[in-house]
Amino acid sequence: MDLGIKGRRAIVCASSKGLGRACAMALAAEGVHVTLTARGAEALAKTAAEIRKLSPDVTVTEVPGDITTPAGRAAALKACPDPDILINNAGGPPPGDFRNWTRDDWIKAIDANMLTPIELIKATVDGMMARKFGRIVNITSAAVKAPIEVLGLSNGARSGLTGFVAGIARKTVINNVTINGLLPGPFDTDRLRGPVAEAEAARKGITVDQLIAERGKSNPAGRVGDPEEFGLACAFLCGAKSGFITGQNILLDGGAYPGTM
Ligand code: NAP
Repeated sequence: MDLGIKGRRAIVCASSKGLGRACAMALAAEGVHVTLTARGAEALAKTAAEIRKLSPDVTVTEVPGDITTPAGRAAALKACPDPDILINNAGGPPPGDFRNWTRDDWIKAIDANMLTPIELIKATVDGMMARKFGRIVNITSAAVKAPIEVLGLSNGARSGLTGFVAGIARKTVINNVTINGLLPGPFDTDRLRGPVAEAEAARKGITVDQLIAERGKSNPAGRVGDPEEFGLACAFLCGAKSGFITGQNILLDGGAYPGTM
């Protein structure tokens, strides 16, 4: 299926690994020129090289930096000043007990998972509207629909972003600019195997691999998600013919969320 976005330009935030990387790969496969960001330059260079090999006709630009800082965002926008596609993503906040979180912990989470995407939308959306094409996808979390107790910082910050976007996504679509959320359930990335999993595995006296297999079995799909599946869904939302989908929050969780809608 040709999504009709060949030659478009995308900023894909936090994309050296995991879900961001999968989105960049899927967009590049559609002929989109991609600007990738991540803090670690080595992994970023590795991913950029892989994309260049798989999609030799697109330009791949690496921007090492922390996207949650003004300098990191400015560098990404300097490399790609007029993106047609913006994929907002950053690392998720750490788990914990809300009793231990300070104001600074909250500010960090809100900065990364709410204000950073809002700043990037603000910097790009008017240009997209003037050019009559824009696709913005915010990678949030299934926790926006069904909060995960230990991830209170994530539940709060991402819900703030989701509420903000619900308002503006109905204002931009008149100019063919859509803004949607993609809500990952469990996907097999470094994040899924990170501190939350390590702590749970240690508590249960099993390995992280065993824990991931257990989590897969308890999912209606009988497995955790493959990042490639996430990337392809993202690319579809960025397609030329996806202009009638806006303000939506789409769960990719193998059916784990038990609600009717
Ligand atoms: P991941 O595999 O750990 O990859 C995270 C990517 O983001 C890496 O490339 C990382 O590179 C980059 N990154 C992190 N913080 C950054 C920053 N401040 N500035 C620039 N780049 C940054 O994580 P993932 O599983 O793809 O998760 C992506 C997002 O989805 C996270 O917010 C996560 O909480 C959320 N999520 C994931 C799942 C899941 O099952 N995987 C489920 C729900 C929600 P550097 O570290 O080098 O910067």
